[in-house]
Amino acid sequence: MKISVIGAGQMGNGIAHVFAQNGHQVTLIDISQAGLDKGLATIAKNLDRQVAKGTLSEEQKQATIARIASTTDMAAGVKEAGLVVEAATENVDLKLKIFRDLDASAPASAILATNTSSISITRIAAATKRPGQVIGMHFMNPVPVMKLVEVIRGYETSDEVTRTVVDLSSAIGKVPVTVNDYAGFVANRILMPMINESIQTLFQGVGGVAEIDTIMKLGMAHPMGPLQLADFIGLDTCLAILRVLHEGLGEPKYAPCPLLVQMVTAGKLGVKSGEGFYVYTAGSKDLVVSPAFLR
Ligand code: NAD
Repeated sequence: MKISVIGAGQMGNGIAHVFAQNGHQVTLIDISQAGLDKGLATIAKNLDRQVAKGTLSEEQKQATIARIASTTDMAAGVKEAGLVVEAATENVDLKLKIFRDLDASAPASAILATNTSSISITRIAAATKRPGQVIGMHFMNPVPVMKLVEVIRGYETSDEVTRTVVDLSSAIGKVPVTVNDYAGFVANRILMPMINESIQTLFQGVGGVAEIDTIMKLGMAHPMGPLQLADFIGLDTCLAILRVLHEGLGEPKYAPCPLLVQMVTAGKLGVKSGEGFYVYTAGSKDLVVSPAFLR
C-alpha cells in the first residue's frame, strides 16, 4: 500500500522511516522545504545508527531511502495514497483544514489517519465526507524504536478500516492497541496529568528538576523522569494536549500549570528549541538542568 505522511517533524519522519523500511512506497509532505530537508536528514541519520548497530544492512538502508519521495505539494503527494498519516503540528484548526483538503485530493478509497496526541478523531472525521475512513494512528516517540501504536476509533470509524490499520501496524512490526475516542485517548490521558503534576511540584518548590526526575526514575523504574520526557515530547505539544484534556473532559485537574504556559510563551519548548527543563547542546549527551531552575 502507498503511504503519504503529512508533516516531516519528529513524528512524521519516524513514521515515514518505519513504513519505508518495511517495504512501502512513502511520500513525505511538509509545508516547508526546510522541514522536509531536516526530516529526510533525520531519517538518514537514524538509519545510519541502525546500520552501525548491525540491525540493518547498508543495502536495506539504501532501499529504505529510495522508497521515500518528498514534496511540499500536499494535493500531489496524496494522489495515489492508500493510507495518509497526518503528523502535522498539534493544532485543531490546522488539522481540520488539512483533513478538508485531504478529503478533496486523496483517492476516495484512501484511509485518512491522524497521529494526533489528543484531538478528537470524531471531530477531525466530521471535517470530511468519509468519516468511516478516518482513524487515529497514534505512534510513540521515537517511532522507529517504540512498539506501541494506539489505534483510535472515532464515532463512525468502520470495522473494516480499523482491521486494515491494525493489520498494517502489525505488519510494520508495531503492537496496535485499539481504544475509543475521548480526549487524550488512553496514553495521554494518563501521561499528561503526571507530567503536569511534576511541573506543578517544581513550580511549588517541593523539589528541583533533578530531584523530581530522579525520584520518578529510581522510585518508579521509569526510564526517563517526567520533566525530561516533557522536554522530549515538546512543551508546546504537552500544553496543547493538556488544553484538549481540560476542555474535552471539563475537569479542573487537567488545567495546565502556569509554569508550563510561561515556558511555552518564552519559546522554551524542550529538546527541539534547545532548552526546556534542561539545556541541550548539539553533540552532548549530558543532562544539564536549565539555569532558569538553578537560581
Ligand atoms: P513537530 O513540530 O516536530 O513537526 C510538525 C511538522 O508539521 C513541522 O515540520 C511543520 O512544518 C509541519 N506542518 C505544519 N503545518 C503543516 C501543513 N499544513 N502541512 C504539512 N506539514 C505541516 O511536531 P511532532 O512532535 O512531530 O508532532 C506531530 C503530531 O504528532 C502532533 O499531532 C503531535 O501531537 C503528535 N505526536 C507527537 C508526539 C511527540 O512525542 N512529539 C508523540 C505522539 C504524537
